[in-house]
Amino acid sequence: MKIFVVNAGSSSLKYQLIDMENEQVLCKGLCERIGESGAITHKAADGRTYTADTAMPTHSEAFEAVVYAMTKSDAKVINSFDEVSAIGHRIVQGGSIFKGSCLITDKALQDIDDLGALAPLHNPAHVLAIKACIKTFGSDKPQVAVFDTSFHQTMPDKAYMFALPYKYYEKYGVRKYGAHGTSHHFVSDRVAALEGKDKKDIKIITCHLGNGCSITAIKDGVCVDTSMGFTPLDGFMMGTRTGTLDPSALTFIAEKENLSPADINRICNKESGVLGVSGVSNDNRDVIAAANEGNDRARLAIQMQRYQIIKFIGSYIAAMNGVDAIVFTGGIGENDKGLRKEILESFTYMGVEISDEKNDIHGEEVKISTENSKVNVYVIPTNEELAIARDTLAIISK
Ligand code: ADP
Repeated sequence: MKIFVVNAGSSSLKYQLIDMENEQVLCKGLCERIGESGAITHKAADGRTYTADTAMPTHSEAFEAVVYAMTKSDAKVINSFDEVSAIGHRIVQGGSIFKGSCLITDKALQDIDDLGALAPLHNPAHVLAIKACIKTFGSDKPQVAVFDTSFHQTMPDKAYMFALPYKYYEKYGVRKYGAHGTSHHFVSDRVAALEGKDKKDIKIITCHLGNGCSITAIKDGVCVDTSMGFTPLDGFMMGTRTGTLDPSALTFIAEKENLSPADINRICNKESGVLGVSGVSNDNRDVIAAANEGNDRARLAIQMQRYQIIKFIGSYIAAMNGVDAIVFTGGIGENDKGLRKEILESFTYMGVEISDEKNDIHGEEVKISTENSKVNVYVIPTNEELAIARDTLAIISK
């Protein structure tokens, strides 16, 4: 059985085709500049590639290009799209409505559209992509929605509420929703499997550190707190996002520079974080290189980010009254052994002990703590596409 996994933005479309017999990726690709000129880059698992510039006025033409790439191009992997059993969509915002993945019915599609108020850059694009799939593949092809937020729906109200006047929660649904839930879910399931324990019996802290970063606390098998908030801006410093800061710093700057809410949004989401402080890049590799060459703002950016991560992990240990396993994932979490070492050195007081040799291992699932360590620490490559495909299969098998 083959599942087509779609991650659609307003002008881009990432996809994978996964054979669920062995959970192998058959092909993956990217359509870009949808709404303008249009281009597809498609790669089969055996290395064959197909690229083309082709008009994509809407997502429908993008899906047609994907079907051509998968079934007819030099990098084809199937004979017909009929071989595909279902389509799984990554959906950014499920609000308080979606507590888990679901079959996309007319009602679900309407709800995803309505939640566009909370995720204006994402949900409307997902809706366009779902409608384009119906047009291209027919309404009989099952489509499943997998939400970035649903794993976090188990948070208690004391964790998800903001200390604003309650009416804003009632009127607009202003609260913490979290993000990266598919990744936190995936790696926490892996930890339980690696520990050979029921997830309900271990306290886990998962650190998804990529361009976007979030940390989640998992107790009794469910998420009890997460660092991203109403939007992915909350939490700690990321590539271009501020993370948490005193909101009065923003109202002060807005007044001084006569900035609109849209300006503040742009500055906080796209011009801040590691990029904003270092002035070098949003990519930690470039910033670490600059710091090593003596760039002091680059040093500061890296140190701030690590310090904030340490504080989040520490606060979640307190919130859960302990931790049994800590996981690192995402581009930074999986690749930056220096960051892992520095962060974990702040937890030696509670018996965390790291093996330098294990911490050096790269590109695979590994337990980097020693046998004596009181907390097991893992690096687990995340695989959100596989998680979406598994949920899609589970839902259509019901
Ligand atoms: P996204 O959040 O877009 O999915 P990734 O999870 O792939 O991104 O993370 C990308 C980030 O990973 C890069 O911006 C870079 O900061 C970081 N990264 C990748 N390799 C390394 C490394 N060896 N050292 C430090 N950072 C790294």
